[in-house]
Amino acid sequence: MYFNTHTHLNSEEQYERRDELIKRCLEEGVTQMTVVGYDLESSRLGVQIAHEYDFVYCTVGISPNDCEETTDEDLEEIKELAKDPKVVAIGEIGLDYHWDVPHDKQWDVFAKQIAMAKELDLPIVIHSRDASEDTYRFLSEAKHRGIMHCYGGSYEMALRYIDIGFYISLAGPVTFKNARKPKEVATKVPLTSLLIETDDPYLSPVPFRGKRNEPANVIYVARQIAELKGISVEEVANTTKHNAETIFDLNHGDK
Ligand SMILES: [Zn+2]
Repeated sequence: MYFNTHTHLNSEEQYERRDELIKRCLEEGVTQMTVVGYDLESSRLGVQIAHEYDFVYCTVGISPNDCEETTDEDLEEIKELAKDPKVVAIGEIGLDYHWDVPHDKQWDVFAKQIAMAKELDLPIVIHSRDASEDTYRFLSEAKHRGIMHCYGGSYEMALRYIDIGFYISLAGPVTFKNARKPKEVATKVPLTSLLIETDDPYLSPVPFRGKRNEPANVIYVARQIAELKGISVEEVANTTKHNAETIFDLNHGDK
């Protein structure tokens, strides 16, 4: 049984066909998943989807790529949404220097959402692109727990994130032939610190690279990790599921 920690069933590309996509998940043994918000609308939809299916959880938050116009009122609404019992984290939040959203705005929205997560005692799901050192600085100062989503950094950096309370989540790129860093991370980082995800509709794993991704494809991420570590795919599935239940705090009765 697999736990996919990062799907965008709330996205324009996936929302209308979510029933079909979830059905395919269940056929493949993907029995739990977290729908991750990236702006107000996707956060609202995530909460709605999580209420449609028992085994679907969600996160709410504003991503660095969607934060340029974010107001304090928007963040208030995120905070209200976060009080829903199916919300298991604040995210995806973080820093992205690949696109041109002003850095000072990104820092402000990121810092406010970290503070919100601490206040609500929820973990954080981190999106970091071309901003590794700054992201690390924010997170080490925050002294909070969470997930490095679609991790593409080095093995050494992964160890530093684990040290400060983070899980490392691997997605489709670990299956790409030339993805040296994700493969090294999958090989050397202990399974007890790894999670699996799809980040669909993007980043389809091999053998579907270039096509629209879907949450059931998380099994190819798990297979690749198993192959690299020389262990069974069941072990990858079971341990990463346990890790997901731990970080999302699903091991007791109230969720
Ligand atoms: Zn995402």
